[in-house]
Amino acid sequence: MTERIYYTDATRTEFEAVVERVEPAEGGQGVILDRTAFYPTSGGQPHDTGRLGGAAVLDVVDRDDGAIVHVIDGRLEPGQSVHGRVDWDRRFDHMQQHSGQHVLSAAFDRRLKVRTVSFHLGRVTSTIDLEREVSPAEIQIAEQEANAVVWRNEPVAIRFASPEEAAAMPLRKEPVREGTLRLVAIGDVDLSACGGTHVDRTGTIGLIAVRAWERFKGGTRIEFACGGRALDLCRTLRDQMAAATRLLSVSGAELPEAVERLQQESRELRRAAKGLQEQLAEYEAVRMAASARPVGGLRLVVAAPEGWDVNGLKALAQAIARQPGHGAVLFSRTTPALLVVARAADAALDARQLLNTLVARFGGKGGGRPDLAQGGGLGGTSDELMAAALDAAGASA
Ligand SMILES: [Zn+2]
Repeated sequence: MTERIYYTDATRTEFEAVVERVEPAEGGQGVILDRTAFYPTSGGQPHDTGRLGGAAVLDVVDRDDGAIVHVIDGRLEPGQSVHGRVDWDRRFDHMQQHSGQHVLSAAFDRRLKVRTVSFHLGRVTSTIDLEREVSPAEIQIAEQEANAVVWRNEPVAIRFASPEEAAAMPLRKEPVREGTLRLVAIGDVDLSACGGTHVDRTGTIGLIAVRAWERFKGGTRIEFACGGRALDLCRTLRDQMAAATRLLSVSGAELPEAVERLQQESRELRRAAKGLQEQLAEYEAVRMAASARPVGGLRLVVAAPEGWDVNGLKALAQAIARQPGHGAVLFSRTTPALLVVARAADAALDARQLLNTLVARFGGKGGGRPDLAQGGGLGGTSDELMAAALDAAGASA
């Protein structure tokens, strides 16, 4: 059993220890010390990093036999004394997030009677999963309550209890470990069994900000940021907001309205462009039909005209197909290409079959009827596509 210095002193970063055992480990050497300040990955909180002697600590594993295994990129010998140093920035970040999680979970529990079923502390984001769905208004209540606890600067105390003693206490959740329990008490706000590293007063958490939420497994997943990460979040939002408001030349408050106006304008422009393309298609179709090639018993236009979107291509192909005996195979100039096939009622061409032949060769997908079919996602250059369309039309005619 390794003595866990972090159990009683979460701010201790330097320590002396003796190497008890070494063993092979993936990515380096596994080292077991008589004592350590390094926190191993457990309870939703990632491991510490830092140095053991001259080596970097890459991973810290909490093993079932009570040993803590430090995976290092160097070599140590059993019996050797070694100086350990924990990376404080990473440890402190984890302390803020983890302590904030206790306070936030306690707020959901106390104010809304919603239990937290799991916790994950990630590199960028931290989440708790709540047992039921909660509304935005409920989330705001819990967030407000949690920050009130932060600002009251409640003491965070560590104590140890036997399972019998713990059974009589109002723990927020059932302990998962057996034997002596390590309890974390936050004022009279929260009491839970936990092996993690915490701040000693809630004020050190700084701020608890909910950044997003989503429905998850019948409950709600809450994404949150505390302390330094809450400040990072604020800076990111500020920069994103500044970039958006600069682009649109509006203030932050005017941003939603400005986006709505742009969407409206864009819809109107699309509608206008569609009308214009349809009108233009009538003229363009007559011009293109004049250069149609006889293929089988059909006059076929195969082209990749510049500047037409899928609606325009469709209008153009249909306009060509309104000329008796005509058919059209039109591609977009984009990569991958869009495709529209249309034919007049009296023309001998199966539009859907031609489309399927081209999709089988160039990829993509599509569908339609014998007189009108459209697709997209076709690889190949315009020249390759047009040549293949002529071949396929000739073969099927
Ligand atoms: Zn904890």
